[in-house]
Amino acid sequence: MENKELGIYIHIPFCQHKCDYCDFISFSNKQNMVKGYVEAMKKEINSYFQNKDFLDSYNITTIYIGGGTPSFIDSQYIVEIMELLEMKLIRNQTKFEDMEITIEVNPGTVNQKKLEDYKKAKINRLSIGLQSTNNSILKEIGRIHSFEQFLETYRLANQVGFDNINVDLMIGLPNQRIEDVKESLNEIINLKPAPTHISVYSLIVEEGTVIAQKIENHQLEEMDEDLERNMYWYVKDTLELNGYKHYEISNFAKEGKESKHNMNCWLQKEYIGIGVAAHSYINGIRYANCETIEEYIDNMKVENSELIERILTNAQRTDTEKNIENSRRDEEKVHKIKQIEKIYEIEEVQNLEDKKKEYMLLGLRKIEGVQISKFKEKFIDNPIFLFRKELEKLVNEELISIEGDYIKLTNKGLDLANIVWEEFI
Ligand code: SF4
Repeated sequence: MENKELGIYIHIPFCQHKCDYCDFISFSNKQNMVKGYVEAMKKEINSYFQNKDFLDSYNITTIYIGGGTPSFIDSQYIVEIMELLEMKLIRNQTKFEDMEITIEVNPGTVNQKKLEDYKKAKINRLSIGLQSTNNSILKEIGRIHSFEQFLETYRLANQVGFDNINVDLMIGLPNQRIEDVKESLNEIINLKPAPTHISVYSLIVEEGTVIAQKIENHQLEEMDEDLERNMYWYVKDTLELNGYKHYEISNFAKEGKESKHNMNCWLQKEYIGIGVAAHSYINGIRYANCETIEEYIDNMKVENSELIERILTNAQRTDTEKNIENSRRDEEKVHKIKQIEKIYEIEEVQNLEDKKKEYMLLGLRKIEGVQISKFKEKFIDNPIFLFRKELEKLVNEELISIEGDYIKLTNKGLDLANIVWEEFI
């Protein structure tokens, strides 16, 4: 049997300052806990990878170090985590050198030494959080850096030898004009060398954030939806004209430089998340770590090999075996994982129907859409018949189209993707 692919996500929940729009699990006042936190993460990594069968049944293809701001903590900690992973994965068939290994860095928290350490630790992809080239917009959303600091980070990254770099931008920000978006794009596209990947996210005003409060108090105005859509289409057209392939709603890449880590998630491949609030997806079970650093460190006081083993034992059974005994096993699985709930929060235990729906939902995030032949290969069923009712409705509303082997969003569907996804929840 062919090994399955597995991604590893490492969450570093520390930031220098909390941005006004941020509702991620990140903390700006817990630097004194970094050492203890990293030790706890090492225990969690050990819990997974001392299981020999687990290592033998997966090919690890990507590692993604996200946050928070991974570049905020001493790079020695990142090096230690990478060394531990490399040691653990030595017997795995995938070579460290062949993996896509990404770290998120924020300007203002990174210097040449840190970048050199990342490079030595075999990290081969950077994701830089710029958001805008306009310094007053950056200030207004609570970012700590300036455009000039970004330019310095970018220059150093190239000097140190990183040739696969993503730049994050945002649209739909309060007081942002379409001219600001044009300027940001223009600056980024004209960098020498140009970034290989650009992500463009629309601001989502989340409850409880400083920005939500400011909007409520009329200190800031939420962006007009039509203007935000204009920005989106401007970004799409400009990046496509400049040689970036639009491959997912918010993501653009030069040829062959799509983010493998994210692509694997959209293809419903499995991953494990290490650290506070990190999510994992193994064998149709989605589970997450607790959301406070204190509780996480406490949970990881001992290596939880036995608990992890229970998840993994389930994971090593093949899909076909599972299909045969589907419903009976689902009950059994729920019972087994109850014991794991003391450490992990079980968010979803999928049966085969759930998996098929989710495969559609995730696949329709990609611009190429869901490949019908791949769906058949994975689930035997033909999605066209299986989801006839939903697809007919969406085609009639001109939100999706069926072109050859693909079911994909139309341009109208790109603007109203939430309506499309709702059909598969
Ligand atoms: S740097 Fe990122 S994770 Fe940290 S507070 Fe800002 S948006 Fe949130």
